[in-house]
Amino acid sequence: MIGIYGGTFDPIHNGHLHVIKQLLQSHRVDRIIVIPAGEPQLREKPIASSSDRLEMCKIAVDSLTAVRDRVEVSSIEVERDRPSYAIETVEALLKSHPGKEFAWIIGSDAFRRIDQWHESERLRELISFIVIERPESGAGEGSENDFNNDSDIDFDDVFNDVDGEEIDALQISATEIRKLLHSRQSVSDMVPPPVLSYIESKGLYGSA
Ligand code: ATP
Repeated sequence: MIGIYGGTFDPIHNGHLHVIKQLLQSHRVDRIIVIPAGEPQLREKPIASSSDRLEMCKIAVDSLTAVRDRVEVSSIEVERDRPSYAIETVEALLKSHPGKEFAWIIGSDAFRRIDQWHESERLRELISFIVIERPESGAGEGSENDFNNDSDIDFDDVFNDVDGEEIDALQISATEIRKLLHSRQSVSDMVPPPVLSYIESKGLYGSA
């Protein structure tokens, strides 16, 4: 099973890396492909450029020691000069990796909006999902019971599917990191040191 970890990664942080390490160390997936999004459809445009976000992902993955050789960073989405849809990425990966099975690794906050994704039904037919329950991912959110019931997705099913794969997600978000950097506060316990050096050297997120 190959895990696809898509996201804005603006910036990539220890919460993401924690998920990657746990899924690989528990052998829930054999490999993980980290895919920073080019132009996300369902949220505001990223602050950092595609190339900076891609670079930070590469630097962060290089900092993973034990599992480093089982993780790759793909530029497939940032190279697209048009909106980036997960379904296209999945179709491209299925084509380039014949016979392989894929699972999309996703936080519960993002999974809550899955039915808004382009061709989400077909996406769910093509791959499985590994949903990571995020603590305090928003006021009153964070529990599977809070999922939007207007959706035709049976969230219980999906959660049952990942039962036994308890990932204790870290309470870190890129939004918080950007805010702290903007107000010149320390984020050294939230991003790996080489990523922080990159952010500071480029003055990203108002850190200059
Ligand atoms: P932002 O605060 O800008 O929304 P984010 O921290 O949620 O960013 P994304 O790049 O949007 O990061 O996340 C990519 C994927 O990783 C999403 O599926 C998201 O739910 C998940 N994710 C983000 N942070 C964590 C975390 N601390 N633990 C587990 N999953 C996470």
